[in-house]
Amino acid sequence: MLVTYVLGDCPGCKQQNSFGNVNVCGDHVLRGCMRCRYSQSILLPAVRKKVIYLDQFFFSGAFRGGDDRFVRAAERIQKLAADQLLVAPFSSIHEDETHLWPRFGELYPFIKSASRGAEFKQSSEVDRFQLHRAFMRWQQNGPADQQPELSDALKPGHVSNWDSYFRIEVGGYHGDAELLARLKLESVEGLVDLFPGWRESQNTFDQDVDAEYNAAAKGYMDAYLEFMVGVGGGDYMALFDSPVMSMVVQGLLAQLPEETPPDERLRQCARFLDSQHFKSCAHQWLRAHMYATLKAQVKAGSYANRERALGRLSGVFFDVSHISTYAPYVDAFIMDQPMAELVSHRGVRLSERYGTRVFSLNNWPELFAWFDELENSMTDEHRQGLRDAYPRRVEMSLPLVKSMSEQSTRPDPLRVRYRAHLGDAMRQIVLFGSTLDQAIKAVKVPEVDIAAFNNLLNSELEHLEAYNCARHCLPMGKTQDWIDKGRPH
Ligand SMILES: [Zn+2]
Repeated sequence: MLVTYVLGDCPGCKQQNSFGNVNVCGDHVLRGCMRCRYSQSILLPAVRKKVIYLDQFFFSGAFRGGDDRFVRAAERIQKLAADQLLVAPFSSIHEDETHLWPRFGELYPFIKSASRGAEFKQSSEVDRFQLHRAFMRWQQNGPADQQPELSDALKPGHVSNWDSYFRIEVGGYHGDAELLARLKLESVEGLVDLFPGWRESQNTFDQDVDAEYNAAAKGYMDAYLEFMVGVGGGDYMALFDSPVMSMVVQGLLAQLPEETPPDERLRQCARFLDSQHFKSCAHQWLRAHMYATLKAQVKAGSYANRERALGRLSGVFFDVSHISTYAPYVDAFIMDQPMAELVSHRGVRLSERYGTRVFSLNNWPELFAWFDELENSMTDEHRQGLRDAYPRRVEMSLPLVKSMSEQSTRPDPLRVRYRAHLGDAMRQIVLFGSTLDQAIKAVKVPEVDIAAFNNLLNSELEHLEAYNCARHCLPMGKTQDWIDKGRPH
């Protein structure tokens, strides 16, 4: 057997230094011998890792800003993850924006060690699981309330298994490109400009919540109808281009008996989208209540200063989307102060409803108290399990986080300015076989910056891999082909 950690002589064949740990598999350590077939299985105690969601705000604080408060939290998270007490799964947000930072390459090892190979499912998938379950209950006249099931958002093994020696690499994530595109269209400015109207509004909170539900239901229906019009009109590309959202209604229709006439199916779908079952889906419930609460805050006098409101709410569409999708599934969620205030407001009360601990700079010491609590919960049995499973475990390299934050600076201005040019040039080269010079000429970078852009492009091409190609909208297969051909440019 392939022995990873040699522990000593084999009890079977007595061969010296040939026996040891082969791997950790879920709930046991497999031990074996390099020479004979002797093996042992050591049972490990049950684990139930806490799940924590780190959002963009956390990474900017720790890795871009080098803020000591975040750096210390990152160190604790790494240590608790290595101790099998905590997992911080990877999510699209970690890839989508952080790659703009010049030191992304150094942030990545932290994400790898804190996530232990665990990834959240895409938000559209989580949404679909919730809606399908609710639709089934609605058809069967079951109760409207549903508890989120961990498997909607995360493979349960990531929470209940001991880490194997061979971790699945994270980062093959494509990002939620569609969601991103949609969110970028919704400008914060547009939202903040609605505030004066909100202040005049005579609607009650419940009416505002209902308006949010109706808008969401209409969104699903419209996306589906648009898709059907495209297909009906002979636009077969509609089949490929249609947004994931149009698939929601399609999925629901498919759950209905085939003998139901098409217009009756659609009517049932519309009735479901107006039902308590739909409104009780965690994602729908949270989204509607978060936006209605934002309205209530505005009516009560918050965000009166336009400029400050723009700053405080800069990531609001992302934040609402990520919190309403993932918060019900995690034990703790680190978010920024405006969002923490919003979800603790009586209109949402996230912690009471879903048991999620909310941490922000408003209650930072409580986060460390929670870390202590986790660490103190470790039993002697668990400690023995750690020794059995990871005999030569090196303490997590805490200086790593430290050095990262010290080196981190602001985003490279050149990279920010030429982000789109860079993507275009990369696609010219990887997809269409252009040379470096041809690509630079094609994207029209001003003369003064050509030399610097050349260096940037060269380094980006050198570091292009299948796991990070999504950031330049490059497909994995084509990118791998280009790498296999020896990166011609
Ligand atoms: Zn042996």
